Amino acid sequence: MLKEITENIEKLVVRFPGGMREVNCYLIKGAKGYTIIDTGTYSKESIDTWKAVLKSGITIEKVVLTHTHQDHIGLAKWFQEQIGVPIFTSKLGYKEMLKGRDFIGRKEKLSHLIKGHGGPGLPDKLEDDSFIYDFEPDGFFEENEMIQLGNDFYEVIWIPGHAPDQYGFYHSDNKVMIIGDHVLKDISPVIGLWTGEELNPLKEYFGSLAVMKNFPATITLPGHGEIISDLDLRVQDIMDRHYYRLEQILEHLADRQMTAKELCEDVYSKLNIYIYLSSFMATLTRLIYLESIGKIHRKTENGIVYFKK
Ligand SMILES: [Zn+2]
Repeated sequence: MLKEITENIEKLVVRFPGGMREVNCYLIKGAKGYTIIDTGTYSKESIDTWKAVLKSGITIEKVVLTHTHQDHIGLAKWFQEQIGVPIFTSKLGYKEMLKGRDFIGRKEKLSHLIKGHGGPGLPDKLEDDSFIYDFEPDGFFEENEMIQLGNDFYEVIWIPGHAPDQYGFYHSDNKVMIIGDHVLKDISPVIGLWTGEELNPLKEYFGSLAVMKNFPATITLPGHGEIISDLDLRVQDIMDRHYYRLEQILEHLADRQMTAKELCEDVYSKLNIYIYLSSFMATLTRLIYLESIGKIHRKTENGIVYFKK
């Protein structure tokens, strides 16, 4: 189950139904046991995977979370309560956890945001996942600190965009970057507004992509998919893709005004609601970014936001 990445780091793919369907967790060997990076979603399949790993008798020192999206934090409470392992997150991550505990409030805000941009709201039977956020972390890390993962010390880097509390951990001697969902190998990470607050995460994301050049990594360990050997190249690919999509939106808005929903359906095809939500969010965050740099403007009619050049 565990795949060796370096002498001290092993990768575990935790699979589960729905959403991204699998998440990468990393186990970093140390004198006091393994440090686990991210846990997988809360599901029977994920718990069974971890139980099988724990059966081999390994000791776990702590769990460290790259960000608090449900597929990364999902089993943190389970680790804390059932296995007795301390959990470490960022202070910003804790703020996101507090929002995550208010399922009704979060759902209402998100639904309001989507409807205000012409979308259909949320699917009725969205599962209440607030319980996964309902625990107190044992410790916190912050930007520019060093964090011990296994025996080694890693620099903590704040890279908001994919999530406001997205952090990376960089080991300069080994050129290893643990990057969460900031950069993935085969897909462009979704930049969304999952708590329903209308922020400008794409602007933050571009900033966080730009700082990657300060961290020359030869082994980049992402939260989903395969390991990245050329981080610079992958960052450039993702930037290029975003610029292409931004241009595409500007072309669509050349002679008409459109809602985020209309643009989303023009640019992407309407698939199932979850994929649809990701495309909708990608479109909306691009519109908010274009508005912030003065390329487009908004107009509200009957409570629905339209964008135009
Ligand atoms: Zn994520």
